[in-house]
Parts: sequence; structure tokens; C-alpha cells
Amino acid sequence: MFCYQCGKSEPLIEGLCAECFVKQCKILTVPTDISVRICAHCNAKFIEGKWIDGNLIQEEIIYRAIEDAIKINPLSENPTVDMNIIQTKGTIAELIIEATTNVFGESIHEKHYVNVRLNKDVCPTCSKRNSNYYEAVIQIRSQLKRIEDEQKEEVNKFVNKTLDKLYKKDKLAYIPQKNQLREGIDYYVGSLKSAKKLSSAIQKRFGGLITESARLVTKNKDTSKEIYRLWISIRLPSFSIGDFVEFEGKIAKILGFDGKKISALDLDNNNVINIIWKKSGNIKVLKRNGDVEKTTVISKSPTILQILDPKTYEVIDFPINSNIEKYSIGDEVKTIAIKDRLHII
Ligand SMILES: [Zn+2]
Ligand SMILES: [Zn+2]
Repeated sequence: MFCYQCGKSEPLIEGLCAECFVKQCKILTVPTDISVRICAHCNAKFIEGKWIDGNLIQEEIIYRAIEDAIKINPLSENPTVDMNIIQTKGTIAELIIEATTNVFGESIHEKHYVNVRLNKDVCPTCSKRNSNYYEAVIQIRSQLKRIEDEQKEEVNKFVNKTLDKLYKKDKLAYIPQKNQLREGIDYYVGSLKSAKKLSSAIQKRFGGLITESARLVTKNKDTSKEIYRLWISIRLPSFSIGDFVEFEGKIAKILGFDGKKISALDLDNNNVINIIWKKSGNIKVLKRNGDVEKTTVISKSPTILQILDPKTYEVIDFPINSNIEKYSIGDEVKTIAIKDRLHII
């Protein structure tokens, strides 16, 4: 058999000798014009009816569009493909693509020129963002009459940090409007999903009682469909961890809280009590953690521990229990005076 190109007698591939076959071999099949529909605001691209891949830089979009559009000859061994933008004019980028590979031991090198056109559009998420669209409002309030500026600042910082995290998965995790009020802060949140996540994160961090209510904001004139927004109210607690409080007749120290409940130590019997957030309005702060005073053990018998009242220097007797039996004469103990009674804590 003879090569139909050069007439050499050799083992043939598709009627050609190896040399002639390699000569007509193409590494890449490249369309000369590629166009991508992208969002002018977030660079998301529209593919097969969906907006995907937001927030890529423009060059990355161009390179990926080419990768999607070119075909590499399966006969090529470890091909290398280099792409470089030569120039960008308006919405069109001109690129050179260079490819190198080996086919049947012969090396091939080729160059292609291609134009990538970026058709700018606005994705639905960005068009919502641009129109200050929101699905929920988070209202930060306090069980006290007002929220201290310092705490507002802390909440603001926490909200921004949390939104940055949520934004990675939800482009509507943004706040088109924020109202700083004397009694608290209102955050308008782009998506309901992120508003729910944000509010439970706020509650986990700062505590508080969450209540939700849907409000009718408008009626769509064409479809007469009613449009609701969710108002989420978080009432921040009047107490902080370490505070001394009264709850249902018990005197207790606040130990901590989570999304469901507050835990406190009953000062009379050292039991831990759990209080659901719904009942947190019944917690009355008596003393702050900063009101704790230190004093000294002055005597100890098998049944009685005596300390000096840090204010009046009177001697006070405490019947020994498991909580205070560890103290010896001369030891320092922490006390809190609540309603004319001293407690060792
Ligand atoms: Zn040949
Ligand atoms: Zn967009």
C-alpha cells in the first residue's frame, strides 16, 4: 500500500504515511467567534437557561468560554494549550491560542486567533439588588428601653461578617437598607433564606427572643397576588453572662445561653436551671458580674464557715455544704450581696 499524498510505501493511517498524517493533523478545533452572555454587575454567565459562576474576573470568564468551546484532538499526547489576550476592544477580546503536542512521535505546533464577545446583561439577582429588593426585615430590639451604642456597633460588625460568609452561597445575602433607631436597628435583607440564617446567628451570639410575623406589603396589580415580607424581631436580653438575676423566685447566676435556652446557677442549692427564651422576659437583673466582692475566710468548724462581710466587716456564718467545704481559714472567697443577703459564689 502507498501513501496517497507522497506515494511512500509504509504502514498507513487513514491512507497516509505517518509523516503525511501528522502534517494534516489538527490539535485543536476552535470556532473563530465565541460569545458569552454575562451579567455586567456580578459577571455571572448565562448558560443553558441558567445564570452561573458569579464574581469571576473578566479574563477568567474569557478563558473558561474558550475552554468550553474548543475541542482537543484525542490523538494528541499531553497537549499544552496557551491562551493569551492580545487586546480588548469594547466588549470583544481578541486572543491567540497556541497548542503543542506529539502525534506518533512527531511534534506539532499550531496557532489560532479567536474573538470572544461578552454580551453584557443583568442577571435576575443583580436586578433585584439594584432595585433594593428585600424579602425580610430583621429588627434588633432590647428587653431594656434602648440599646447602648456600643452594643449596636458590635451587632453591626457581627452582621457584616456573617453576611460576607452567607454571600458566598446566596447573592441576595445583602442589606439594601439599614435604619439605626434609638430603640434598636432594622436590617432589610435581600433573601428570606439568609435573613433566617442571619437572625439565628445573631441570637446564638447575643441571645434574645425571636418572634416572626408576615406583613402584606403590596398586591401585584396584574396577578392580584399578595406579596408578603417577613419581619423577624430579636429582643436582646437585659442580662449578660455572669449577671445575678431573679427568676420565678429563685436567685441565680447566668452561666450562658444557646439558641434555645438560658442556663443559670441557682445560688441557694447550686442546681443548674434552664430557662427557655420565651420566658426570658421574667428574668430580672439584680446585680452585675462587676458587683462581685472578695473577702476572707476567718474561721472554719466541721459545720460552719465564717467570713467577713466585705462591706460591714461583720462576721457571717455559712453552714458548710459541698460548694464551700473546699475553703480553709485565710482563703479568699468571692461574694455577692443580693437583697441584704450575702452569697458565696
Ligand atoms: Zn505520505
Ligand atoms: Zn449579576
